[in-house]
Amino acid sequence: MSSGTQQRGGLPVMVLKEGSQRTTGADARRSNIMAAKVIAEILSTSLGPRGMDKMLIDAFGDVTITGDGAAILKEMEVQHPAAKLLIEVAKAQDAEVGDGTTTAVVLAGRLLELAEELLDEGIHPTIIIDGYKKAMDYAIQVANEIAKPINVEDKNQLALVAMNSLSSKIVAEARDYLAKIAVDASAIAVEKVGDKYNLDLDWIKIEKKKGQSLFETQLIQGIVLDKEVVHPGMPKRVVNAKIAVLDAPLEIEKPEWTTKISVSSPQQIKAFLEEESNILKSYVDKLAEIGANVVITQKGIDEVAQHYLAKKGILAVRRVKRSDIEKLAKATGAKIVTSIKDIKPEDLGTAGLVEERKVGEEKMVFVEQCPNPRAVTILLRGAADRILDEAERSMQDALHVIRDLYRDPRIVPGGGAFEMEIARRLRDWGRKLPGKEQLAVLKFAEALEHIPTILALTAGLDPVDAIAELRKRHDAGEFDAGVDVLSGKVENMAKINVVDPLLVKTNVIRSAAEAAIMILRIDDIVAAAQTKTGGTSKSKSESGGEEGESKSSE
Ligand code: ADP
Ligand code: MG
Repeated sequence: MSSGTQQRGGLPVMVLKEGSQRTTGADARRSNIMAAKVIAEILSTSLGPRGMDKMLIDAFGDVTITGDGAAILKEMEVQHPAAKLLIEVAKAQDAEVGDGTTTAVVLAGRLLELAEELLDEGIHPTIIIDGYKKAMDYAIQVANEIAKPINVEDKNQLALVAMNSLSSKIVAEARDYLAKIAVDASAIAVEKVGDKYNLDLDWIKIEKKKGQSLFETQLIQGIVLDKEVVHPGMPKRVVNAKIAVLDAPLEIEKPEWTTKISVSSPQQIKAFLEEESNILKSYVDKLAEIGANVVITQKGIDEVAQHYLAKKGILAVRRVKRSDIEKLAKATGAKIVTSIKDIKPEDLGTAGLVEERKVGEEKMVFVEQCPNPRAVTILLRGAADRILDEAERSMQDALHVIRDLYRDPRIVPGGGAFEMEIARRLRDWGRKLPGKEQLAVLKFAEALEHIPTILALTAGLDPVDAIAELRKRHDAGEFDAGVDVLSGKVENMAKINVVDPLLVKTNVIRSAAEAAIMILRIDDIVAAAQTKTGGTSKSKSESGGEEGESKSSE
């Protein structure tokens, strides 16, 4: 480590600002590799259905228990820039294909670890980078060759793949059931354009409610709001609903500062209150006049307005999340109105039925038979909040996997079989390459074998024996041989239906290789002096910013 001061003709010249830290060459590279390895190591024990969960406690003391790679990384606060870089890559993987995050990070970590061995042997990073790039391209090419097509019109085939992504132990008992719901929801939401399918996951809303068990989870055609009808005098069920969807309050907004109104007589108070009441009444009259029999707003509805709405026989719901308001508008064909004064009949949406129903101990509002039939809600039920949270994460993985299959309906064997086969072919091909690049390609193959190695470890198998057997069977032409972590044996993955979408796997290879290459390319770290107050508080607000809408505003 050197500072920003350089000697020139005996005089020290300040190049970097005072307090800057500079790390160069091998030191920089090693410090980065070390950081990436730590992240990969943390995640590796969570890989696969027998992986371990992590308990994460945030700065506010909130606890998350999860085995989901993306969720673990989201909660983890890291300091090292290279570790941050790896987390960015994982997030990109999650956004792109929604699954394979753990695998991508573990693979990137292993690629770097093995690159370090080559560095130790004196091989220049540029050669390693070139070798890794070639290996990545070849691996993706081979992946396309060995992938097999499935028929996405066949729900059973989709469900079999989706099931594998529901690998979290917490939801394991209900895997078949939840996979079927994910497939049914997707089949409703998917749009066929020509011979292509487009599944927009925005159409699929997930709501969580405590209940007896995950097996009570239901699929509802329409939108379910975690809200009650606002006033007991209102109807609880409206057939042929005409729905006003508002981003406007039905209350007189209180000024932000305390104001003093001087009144000199009881008449003046009365007049003042009457004025308020009249404004609210005029809003309600307007809504009734254009034919609305359901009012759903993002903002509040005060008691006076509730009273008038009830008198008109209008069902009203208040303080609905913004994302739900948007979904409602899309599903019912409503326009989101921000000023009640200007609302027109054509702004109203429609639904065959709007009804408040009891779900467990609480009430929810169901908006069904919408003109846009693609809107669906998965109403997750489970015995505890932590189960529901993990079920939601798993359900998201399953939905993403289904979306991937609609995009590209090809699958590869799971349980490390895919990685073993790619590794085998990379070795055969790499041996023909000249010089030191060959070494990098062979390391790439070795890194891929790390995935079955970890799966074997989580299944309590001896990893050396397992890899030896896998190599033997792959050499004999059994492409589908992998680790069945549930039975703890080397098995034919196609036979036991452990398969992954091709899209997830090619993305894993690409993002892991690109992350490793990016980190290997860095040979200079220049860190500005830390400001006294900076650092931790900033990173907290960054990670907190993404949430927001998951907390309801009630
Ligand atoms: P990721 O975040 O990378 O998706 P997961 O924890 O979901 O990590 O693990 C995915 C890996 O587990 C894949 O390689 C998949 O093939 C494998 N897998 C899933 N089910 C099984 C199973 N029953 N036996 C062996 N491997 C499995
Ligand atoms: Mg997964």
